[in-house]
This record gives sequence, C-alpha cells and structure tokens, in this order.
Amino acid sequence: MSKKLKQIAIYGKGGIGKSTTTSNLSAALAEMGLRVMQFGCDPKSDSTNTLRDGKFIPTVLDTLREQSAVKAQEVIFEGFRGIYCVEAGGPSPGVGCAGRGIITAVELFKQQRIFEKLDLDVVIFDVLGDVVCGGFAVPIREGIAEHVFTVSSSDFMSIYASNNLFKGISKYSNSGGALLGGVIANSMGPPYSREIINDFVAKTGTAVVEYIPRSITVTQSELQGKTTIEAAPQSAQAEVYRSLARKIAAHEISKTPAPMEAAALRGWAAFWADRLLAVEQGKVMSPGEQI
Ligand code: ADP
Ligand code: MG
Repeated sequence: MSKKLKQIAIYGKGGIGKSTTTSNLSAALAEMGLRVMQFGCDPKSDSTNTLRDGKFIPTVLDTLREQSAVKAQEVIFEGFRGIYCVEAGGPSPGVGCAGRGIITAVELFKQQRIFEKLDLDVVIFDVLGDVVCGGFAVPIREGIAEHVFTVSSSDFMSIYASNNLFKGISKYSNSGGALLGGVIANSMGPPYSREIINDFVAKTGTAVVEYIPRSITVTQSELQGKTTIEAAPQSAQAEVYRSLARKIAAHEISKTPAPMEAAALRGWAAFWADRLLAVEQGKVMSPGEQI
C-alpha cells in the first residue's frame, strides 16, 4: 500500500477567495515537496488560472462535449511546480445542472484510477459554497473529500453560506460523508473581523485554521496571473499561506459541525449588528483603537 492520499474540499460563498486561497495552498504544499492536484469545481472554471500564468484550461465537460471518450490525461494540465490542474467545467449557460460537471469529472477520474496512478499526496477540490444542488455536494456526500474547509470572511452572507455548508455536512456525516476540518478566515482586517469569525466558530463547534489578511500583495500577484507564493515568495502574505499549508498537511481529524438554526443565526446577526453600530457611533471602541 502506498502513502495515504489526502482529499480536501474547499467551500465558500462565490467571490470570497476560495480559488485564491486554494491556489496559494496548492503552491505552498508543492513547495513542501508534495504531489498536488487542484480540481476546480466551480462552473466559472478559473480555479487554477493563477497556477498557470492567468491562462484558462479546457474543462472536462467541454472536452466531453467535443469527443465521446476522454482520457483523464487530456484534461490534466501542469501548473506551478508541477501541480496537476483540472477544471470540471459547467453546462452551457442557462442549460442543465451546474453540479453535473463535478459528478462527471470525478467519475472519469475514479474509473481511470488517476489519483493512484499519479501517486498524489493531496487533491484539493475548489467548490462553490452555496450548496444549492446535489452536484455541489458530491465531494461531501460521496466521501470523495475526507476533509472540508470553508473560506469565510466576517461578512454575514459569507458566514450564512458557511452555516449552510455545515448543515450539508451534518446531514451526510452519518453515512460516510466528509467532515469539517475548519474555517479559513479570509480578508481579515476590518474592525471586529476576527471577533465576528471567532464568535461564529465558537457557536458552531468549529475552529479557525488560519487568519488570512486582506492584502494588496494578493491583488498585485493576481494581476500578474500568479499566486502570491510565486509572485511574492518573500512576502508576509506568502508566509501566511505557507502556515496554512503546514496545518492542512498535518491535519488528521475532522468533525461534524453544529450549524446554527435559522432563528439562532438571525439572533446572532442582530447581536453583531448592534455591536457594530455602537462602534460606529463611538459608544464602543473598536479593538484597533484600544490602547
Ligand atoms: P472565489 O474563488 O471564492 O469565487 P476568488 O479566489 O476568485 O474567489 O477571489 C475573488 C477576488 O478576491 C479576487 O480578485 C482575489 O484576488 C480577491 N482576494 C481573495 N482573497 C484576498 C485577500 N486575502 N486579499 C486581497 N484580495 C483577495
Ligand atoms: Mg473560484
């Protein structure tokens, strides 16, 4: 028996920084000498761009539309430091199920035993967080990913999406589904962002794996079509991604989260709304202002 393959899924609201975080994580894991595949499962199909100088790659679904039989090797492209890049793709806009690409692509890879053949250490699925249909739940439901991490900022809609993800994970947790590894707190910086996310993880029985600051270095790197690990390897931000990678490489045990029910989540949001209003009105000092 060869080494154990670690299969991870990263979920989170659209635009929250999943692909940015995932690509930097893949790059940092590859730097550590691990054999990594990044599997984009968002119909936007841009997950792996910054691992390949900003270039898009043909998706599994597009390739399947053009030819009846597809060899997995035809849809795997090499990225930064030999990372294997794949994009599942989506249906033609307005037609069909967006989760279909994940199911089809994952099945193709399983049939052809690709993860074993490539002798991978880590596969990371970059998945949409608004778990609106069965397809997006595939990595959780089918136990394809063993560990799920969610990327969330302190914005309510992002926390709301993470809480919904927790509901999905809990639902399948007794039937061999994936469990939660933790929350990757992204775009930290605004007053109370850490406190809000810390309170959310405390209420849901989960934990923050890493705090990732909002950083102009990320923007600059993205504009060059690269990850921060590649474009600014000496930066403080690159160190944060390396720290995340070390924790994820060492991560062993995931848990079933305890999502908040609708009323509890509303109450929680109302509490923070009052708190932030008090800060804005100068009744309470923000943590940054404390001496
Ligand atoms: P998603 O994959 O969740 O849809 P992306 O990873 O594409 O989101 O990120 C959306 C935008 O946010 C990108 O322009 C990205 O550069 C930016 N972004 C993500 N994380 C950070 C960060 N920590 N600091 C600055 N910009 C970020
Ligand atoms: Mg993305």
